[in-house]
Parts: sequence; C-alpha cells; structure tokens
Amino acid sequence: MAFKRKTTQPVRKRKAFTRKKVCRFCTDTELVIDYKEVRTLRNFLTERSKIIPRRIYGNCAKHQRQMTEAIKRARQIALLPYTGNPNI
Ligand SMILES: [Zn+2]
Repeated sequence: MAFKRKTTQPVRKRKAFTRKKVCRFCTDTELVIDYKEVRTLRNFLTERSKIIPRRIYGNCAKHQRQMTEAIKRARQIALLPYTGNPNI
C-alpha cells in the first residue's frame, strides 16, 4: 500500500538554538582595533586569510568597518597575508 504524504501540512523545522552574538569590541572596551595588533586581527581571518563576515562573527557595523580597515592596512605593510595560511 502506497503511503501518500500530505503536502498541505507544512513540515515544521525548528531552527537549532543559536546563541545571540554580541560584538566583542562593544563588550570589551579594552580591546582596541589597531592594524599593528596582528594577534587580534587574525581572529577575524579564515584559514585562507579571508575576512570573516559580520553575520558569522557578530561584530557590529561600526567595529566591522574598523576591523576590515585595520586588516587591509596590515596587509599593505605585510603584517597579514592577502591570501594563504596566516600560520596561526
Ligand atoms: Zn561593536
């Protein structure tokens, strides 16, 4: 006997519980975004040295802007790589 699935009822798919992300720099005022602080900037790079988007990391717009600016500056003076493994 063939079992027919009702298509009229929507399949309830609960989204897995996600923690609310807060901006690191807003909560911790001692953290400073600086292009010379390579150690903190590396947290925001992927293995391939790409900048992690805001929606993943949870930075606020203001700090994300400052952060990308700092990363780009650091790249320019060869503190951070444009591509490849940043050797963490
Ligand atoms: Zn912030």
